[in-house]
Amino acid sequence: MLAERMGRVSASPTLKVLVEAERMRQRGIDVVELGAGEPDFDTPVHIKEAAARAIDGGFTKYTPAAGTGELKQAICDQYQALYGISCTPAEVIATAGGKQALYNVAVALYERGHEVITHVPGWPSILDQIRLADAEPVLVRTSAADGFAIHADAFLEALTPKTRAIIVNSPCNPTGALMSEPEMERLVDAVAGRDIWVVLDLCYEQLIYEPVPHNLARPLFERHRDRTVLTGSASKTYAMTGWRCGWAIGPAPIISACNALQSHSTSNVSSISQKAVVAALTGPQESVGAMLAEYRQRRDSMHAWLTADPRIRCVKPDGAFYLFVDISRVLSADGIPTSAAFAQALLDEAHVALTAGEAFEAPGFLRISYATSMERLKEGADRILSFIGKLDAAGKTRAATGV
Ligand code: PMP
Repeated sequence: MLAERMGRVSASPTLKVLVEAERMRQRGIDVVELGAGEPDFDTPVHIKEAAARAIDGGFTKYTPAAGTGELKQAICDQYQALYGISCTPAEVIATAGGKQALYNVAVALYERGHEVITHVPGWPSILDQIRLADAEPVLVRTSAADGFAIHADAFLEALTPKTRAIIVNSPCNPTGALMSEPEMERLVDAVAGRDIWVVLDLCYEQLIYEPVPHNLARPLFERHRDRTVLTGSASKTYAMTGWRCGWAIGPAPIISACNALQSHSTSNVSSISQKAVVAALTGPQESVGAMLAEYRQRRDSMHAWLTADPRIRCVKPDGAFYLFVDISRVLSADGIPTSAAFAQALLDEAHVALTAGEAFEAPGFLRISYATSMERLKEGADRILSFIGKLDAAGKTRAATGV
């Protein structure tokens, strides 16, 4: 009944848990929601006011499909300020979130016979977009043992004559890990001058907790510019997930291909959102730092609460707003066998909603979003620990049985 390509993608496994959590809430059950990949903060007031002015001033019509000149210039200025790279508005397209930026790039660049390398644990849409573009995802695995660090060599070892692109997401969803600058230098050394695209998803670029240098864009721009695409988003930085505005920056021919594609599908990002994002990028940035400070406290607290239990192992992430928790010690054949089953049982019995590692190609893990209030985090941590405690007392964890 459906086109063949639909057989290659699956609906997100996270959705099932979210839908069920919503159903429980409607029945009056108090569900602690740690699954959402979005800030709990409200969009800062000056951004909302810019949107209200756009509506009142009648800025409510179509814009060019790739976005207004004003927004594209603001994006160029932002990347100049962040990374010291210069680009022109012709090298920028505004998209319905970073997700559409990556999707446009996938359809514009990949095709049957291509391999596209990316790292896992990783964001599921990246893999499904590669498949939707008829190409083959090639997965390289980062490991908890070294903090899920993203290494150039892993990509380089996976190169074949079919490699079309390498996609890097740093900070990474779900691990929060960063690619280091020296690793990016190494990658650029190896691919510079070759026909291999590097797509760098910087959606969490302003959510980095420690003063770790993270200018991955500059070496790419200096030495591999004609095969580099950067994607970014207002969603996480400015608590604007619902406004749907992201962007791609790359060589003019690929941006104009993305423009052609977008002009036949969704056209421009809402004109109102574009005005709001101009205000976000060019206005006061204090809210970004304030939200980051709050996320840092939540990260530290949630990490401390959970890892006080030796059965739970968790790397403290450098960026994004997720803890990626190793629960392999609490899984067992006669108890709960998989992290997916664990997430389901936790929802059913302890009423905590989170995302199982299976969604990110990483069974044995759970992703916990700490983009929620400290109070709810504490409640969530208490419920998770007591759930594990009960399993353990019943002799149903690997930690208890030693198997
Ligand atoms: N990249 C990654 C790694 C993400 O986690 C997300 C959102 N979950 C996005 C891109 C896109 O977000 P948006 O479309 O809201 O900009």
